[in-house]
Formats: sequence, structure tokens, C-alpha cells
Amino acid sequence: MSTTHLYHRDWHLLAQLKPRLSAQTRTARHVYRGEPTFIIQDQYSGRCHRFSRYAWEIIRRFDGDRDLQSIWQRMVDQKVQPLPRQSDLVDLIDQLIRLELIELEGAERQGVVAGQEARKARWKQVMQKVVMPLSIKLPIWDPDSFLSRNRWLETVLTHPLLLSAYLLIVLVGVVLAIGWWPEFQNNLLDAAVLRENLILLVLTYPFIKAFHELAHAVLVRRWGGHVHEVGLMFLVFFPVPYVDATDASMFVKRYQRMAVGFAGIATELVLASLAMIVWVAAEPGILRAIAANIVIVGGISSLLFNGNPLVRFDAYYVLSDAWEIPNLGRRANDMFGYQLGRALLGWQRDPAQEQMVNVCGRLLGYAIASFAYRMIIVVGISIYLTGILPLFGLLLVGLFVTMGILVPLVKSLRSGWRKSSFHLMKGRFVLALTGSVGLVVLLLGWMPMPSTTNFEALVLPRDDSIVRVAETGQLSKPRLAAGTQVSVGQTLISVTNSDLPIRKKVLMARLDRYESQRQGVYGATAELPKLDAVIAATQAEQQRIDQRLEQLDVRAAVAGELQWHDGVMQGADYASRGEQIGLIRNDKLIQIRGYVTESVADRLRQSTETVELRSGDGRHTYNQDISLQVLPSAVNELSDIAFTLDGGGQFARDGRDGERIATLRPVVAVVLSVPDFAVRAFKERLYVRVSHPQEPLANHIWRFIETQFLSFLKA
Ligand SMILES: [Zn+2]
Repeated sequence: MSTTHLYHRDWHLLAQLKPRLSAQTRTARHVYRGEPTFIIQDQYSGRCHRFSRYAWEIIRRFDGDRDLQSIWQRMVDQKVQPLPRQSDLVDLIDQLIRLELIELEGAERQGVVAGQEARKARWKQVMQKVVMPLSIKLPIWDPDSFLSRNRWLETVLTHPLLLSAYLLIVLVGVVLAIGWWPEFQNNLLDAAVLRENLILLVLTYPFIKAFHELAHAVLVRRWGGHVHEVGLMFLVFFPVPYVDATDASMFVKRYQRMAVGFAGIATELVLASLAMIVWVAAEPGILRAIAANIVIVGGISSLLFNGNPLVRFDAYYVLSDAWEIPNLGRRANDMFGYQLGRALLGWQRDPAQEQMVNVCGRLLGYAIASFAYRMIIVVGISIYLTGILPLFGLLLVGLFVTMGILVPLVKSLRSGWRKSSFHLMKGRFVLALTGSVGLVVLLLGWMPMPSTTNFEALVLPRDDSIVRVAETGQLSKPRLAAGTQVSVGQTLISVTNSDLPIRKKVLMARLDRYESQRQGVYGATAELPKLDAVIAATQAEQQRIDQRLEQLDVRAAVAGELQWHDGVMQGADYASRGEQIGLIRNDKLIQIRGYVTESVADRLRQSTETVELRSGDGRHTYNQDISLQVLPSAVNELSDIAFTLDGGGQFARDGRDGERIATLRPVVAVVLSVPDFAVRAFKERLYVRVSHPQEPLANHIWRFIETQFLSFLKA
């Protein structure tokens, strides 16, 4: 090491400072894989910070009496190995000030090093809370005095006899769960059970989580720690209880820290196992339903979250203690980047990483596993969500990809760039970067992804089963009561029109007059053909009137069960020509109709592989032999109010047109025919899912941009 490395150009600004650890800190010494590590806890915030043996060698000399110059000089005199550089001291002081762990005599100098940094850090914290409301903590209760009064709880959780009993229960529970799995699953997947379960699930969840957190807290108290905060944390708006167990990270014994971390999962597993036993033993009923929910909550949270070391919940911290690798996730990623950099970019050896070489395999394995897990979750959620809520799903996926993949990637690229600059490897770095970006673009461009179109359809009566009046007029009392089975041609109701009979009389009088005129004409004159033409026209007019008089009585065009609209039942009223007054319900005479935009219609015409139909409550699906007919021309009118936003549908109504149900943009009707469709109710909402041939991701993205944004420009 050359001497120039030892000195720092700003040293004179700091040399006279007298640092001292803040009064609210306490320290503990842990040993990780034979290497001592020092923890400094800020008791005010509860946060713990780790420092290496080398850092501690300096920090332990901060007594508030000696200034930095004499501390450093003393270390030089004592031949401390390795001797810290002045810049190490500057960095360390800077870090400690930012963490608010030290106080400085001559504090006005703080501004020199840390003022700006601290302000930046605080601003960043505020921004994170504003921009990312993903983990808001809401403290609720200080359980310390409760825990101190109920020390017997500690015995419940740590007595060897009880522990072996718990182990036995879990074993039995697991065996039962495996044995009864098919039945358990069948029972749960029944849609009706599932819906009722949702309420139970919401009630069971806090109950189990309360036990989980209590277990953490009790064990912290068991080994002399204190828990002063229990509350709710909101992860992506989902409430998750938490307990402030930072005291546990001060525990010197590793098994104690691990036990605290593991206590929550263990408690859930015991509860879930007990519930499994109850479920097998109990008769169907509320008790069994509650037991099933405890199994689900305990099982899912143990397997996917708290028991999964790949996400930062309990098991992660347990594993990181077990391997004696603090900050496991970050170190694993660093190691992965380091090895990649060594292999591809020829980075020089980094002593800090080489120190970890004996756990390199674990770190690489962890880095790859946790990345793969994150990818599976992101891809799974995105496929699921874009299926139901395309826009929201895409936004959420965008957020996941940005925060979970892009931001860490950019960070590691930045540090990679910095490292490479030392070794004059920038050319290779740029090459590797463009290469991998190119690879990603290629993958995105070529990777085929399933592609679907979703729209809504309604179960509507076929046109001829709708009862309409043919002529404007006064409605009589219905001839047939609602609910009657009618056959084709039966008269349903009469309409009285006072105008038509009068017009008929007038026409007949006219006809009489023409007839007598014709008889009065002698010889072949030019009069005769003219008169004949007038007579023929009048006769035709009269026939038309007769026809309309005939149609005054509304007859059944199809067979089925008669239903009257409300107005008709409440006594005679006026109905205008073409008005719907009732319906002949016949479940065979229906049409399933939906509307789509023109661009979607084009896509449906071009490539349709399979069509699936799902009822609104999700309990009925149809996917056999469904044929889909896209009507040829676009229209500006919907056939039912239920297609509009006001009616619960998807289309905005053009309010300017009061009479018709007009749309703002042209739509195309799609008619589906479904064999063996069971009608439950008319106007039932159905969800249609059409799958198209797989397409590269780039096409999907382009279509999304086109349909969401460009169509507004076109319109
Ligand atoms: Zn926990």
C-alpha cells in the first residue's frame, strides 16, 4: 500500500472532530462463520446496523475526548493491521452521521460531511412513502407490559415436552393433509363453498396472524428483549400484522435469533395441523369450514410467504442466520454480479468478495433461485391479471418489473460500470451490455405468448319472441294471464284504435260512390280506365286497413310462456306502434349477443381458435362447439341498455340521442351460438374469452398501444 492512499484531501476539515457513540445506542458482538461482527442498535428507532471487525476497531475508540487525528495517530503508533486509510475514517464518520449513531464535538463541522447527505436521505425516505405506499406501518399496541405479566407464555412455547408434542401434531397434520388431500381440495373448489368461505377466511386470517406475531414477541421477551410495537403494515394495500422484534437482532446467540424468526411459522404450522385433525374428524358444518380455513391460511402463508426463504419474510432471516450471512439477498446478488463480471468482463479480484468464497455456491444458488421465483410470480400474476383487468394488470406488472427487476439491474449496471472503469474494461462492458440488451429485445420480439380477446355478451330473447303492438292504440285487459303457455297464433291482447275504423268507413263510402259513378258511365270513354284505377287503389287501401285492423289483436308468433311487462298488468294503457309489451319466454329461442369495437371485430374475423363462455358468477362455463358470428357492418346503436356503462356494460352512451341507445364510437355485433345453453335469466351477463394463435410479445405490446392510445387519435 503506497502512502498516498493513506491520506485524504479533506482530512484537515475533520481532524479536530471528537466523535462519540450516541447515548441511545447499544452494541452487541455476533460471530458469523468465525468472523466477529458488531451490531449497533439505535434504541430510539429500533434499527440495527452491522459493522465489520475493522470498522469496530475504529468505532470503539470514539470516546468523545480524543479527536480523529489523535485516534488515527494512535492506530498508526499501535501498528494496527490493516491500518485504516484516512478516507476509510471519513467514509465511516459520514455513514455513522447519516445513521444518527454518533455525536460530534465541534458539531458545526457536521455540515461539511453529512449535512447535505442527511437531507438527501431524509428527502428520499419521504418520497418513498409518498410514491410507494407499498409498506406503510401503523403501530397499534405496546405489548411489553402484557408480555412481562404473562411470562407463562414463554413456557408454553419453549418447554421441551410441549415442543415434542407440537412436533407430533405437525407430523400427524402433514400425514392427514397428504392422505385427505383430494377430498379436501374437492370440498374447497366447490364454488358455493368458496364464496361462503371468503367471509370466514377474512375472519380467520387476523386470528392466525395474531398468534403468529404473539409467538415472535413471546420469544423476544424470553431472552431478555422487549417488544414495544405491534401493528399493521400495508403491503400493496393488503394489511399484514407485524411485531417489532428488532431486539432479537441484538441476541448474541444465533439459535435464539433463529428461534424468534421461526416461532411465527411454527405456530401457524401447529394451528394448521390441529385444524387438519379437526377437519378430518368433524362432520360437515361450520366447525369444519373454520378448520379448513385455518389449514388454508396457515398452509399458504407458511409455504408461500413466511416459510419461504426466497422472499423477505421470516424464513429469509432464519436462513440468513443459519448460514451466518447477514444481508443474504444483497450479498447473493453482489456475488452473482461479481462472478459474472469476473467471467465476462475480466474484473479484478475483490477482497471483500473473495472473503466469501467458501459460501460462494450457496450465494449463487440463492441468487438464482430467488430471481427465478420472482420471475415466476411476476409472469404468473401478469398472465392472470391481464386476462381479467388488462389495463390494471399491465400497470401492476409494469410496477413489479420496474421495482423488482429494472431498478436493481440499473443499480448493478452502474456499479459494474464503475468497477470496470478501474480496469480499463469499458469496451468489453459496453459489448456485454449491448449484447444482453439485444438478447432481451430478441426474446421479447420472438417469444410467443398466448393471446386472447375478452368481451361481454348478454342472453337476450330472439326477436320474434318479443311481444310488440303492431298499431298505436288503447290496450285492453290481457286475454291471457302471465305464466300461460301459449301456442303460435293465439291472441294475447287486443288493441283498440279509434282512427282505423273511421278511415275504413270513409274509404267504403268513397268506394260506393266510385262504383255508382262507374255504373253511370256509358260507352267507351276515356273516363272508364281512370275510374277503374281509382277504384283499384281505394280497394287496396281498404285491404291494408283491414290487415291493420286484423293485426290490432296481438298474436303469439312463437310458442312459450307468456310474460307481460309491468305496465300491461297494471291495467290498460296506451301503447305506440312497435312498443314492447311482453315476452314469450322460450329457452330455445334466445340469442347470445355482444358488441365489440371495430378493431376487435377485425381480429375476431381473422383468427379465432377457441371460444369459451363463462357466466357472471363464474359457476358455469361452456367451451364446446361454440360458433361465433361477427356481423359484417359496424353500427352506432346497441340493442340493450345493459351494454352501456349505465347498465353495467362496457360502452359509453351518446346522451345526445335520447331515443335510441346510441354509442359514441361504432360497434360491431357478435352473435354466439352455444349448443345446450341453459338459460337461467334473460339479460344474464356472460363473459366471452376468445383465444387466438400465439403471438410474439412485441405484437401484444404494439396492439395494446394501438388500441389504447392510437384509436383516440383516430377518433
Ligand atoms: Zn413472522
